[in-house]
Amino acid sequence: MLLVFRLGHRLPRDERISTHVALVARAFGADGMCYSGEEDRGLEESVKKICERWGGNFSINYEPNPMKFLKNAKKKFTLVHLTMYGMPLHKKINKVKKEKNIIVVVGSEKVPSEVYNIADHNVAVGSQPHSEVSALAVFLHEYFKGKELDKKFKNAKIEIEPCERGKKVII
Ligand code: SAM
Repeated sequence: MLLVFRLGHRLPRDERISTHVALVARAFGADGMCYSGEEDRGLEESVKKICERWGGNFSINYEPNPMKFLKNAKKKFTLVHLTMYGMPLHKKINKVKKEKNIIVVVGSEKVPSEVYNIADHNVAVGSQPHSEVSALAVFLHEYFKGKELDKKFKNAKIEIEPCERGKKVII
C-alpha cells in the first residue's frame, strides 16, 4: 500500500497543483491520496470523476489533523517526506524500496518542522527547489522501477491504444 499525503492545501491557490499531485499519484501507482489544509469538495469530485472514467481504485480523503494522522499511520506505514533539504534520493531509494507500506508526504507552503522530525526518511529529489508534482513523479518512478508505466486500471470506461500518430481511444 502506497499513499500520498499532500500537506496544507490552500483554496483557490492550490486547486490545480493538488489535482496534479493526485493525478500523478494515481497514474504512477499510488493507491490513494490524503490531503490536509482546506477541505475541497471540488478537488475530491474531479479526482473521483477521473477514476470513474479512467478506472482503478484510487482513493481521496481529507484529513483535518495531519500530525495526528501521521503519528497514527506510523504504526503501519513508513513515512517518506519529500523535501529539497533531505538526503539524496539515490542514497535512500534502496532502503525505501524494501518497505511495502509507505506514505509519501509532499508539502505546499512552509512545511512545519514536526513533519521533518516524524518522517522516517527526508528525501531530496535533487537539492534545488522545484515542485511537489515533479518530486512525486520522480520518486514513484524510482520506487516502482518504471513498472508503474505499464499499470492497468480496472473497470476503465475509456482506454488509450498507443499509436505512432493521431489518437486511438477505446470506449
Ligand atoms: N518552501 C517549502 C518548504 O519549506 O518546504 C517548499 C515548497 S515546494 C513548492 C512544495 C513541495 O515540493 C515541498 O514541500 C516538497 O514536498 C516538494 N519539493 C520541491 N522541491 C523538492 C526537491 N528538490 N526534492 C524533494 N521535494 C521537493
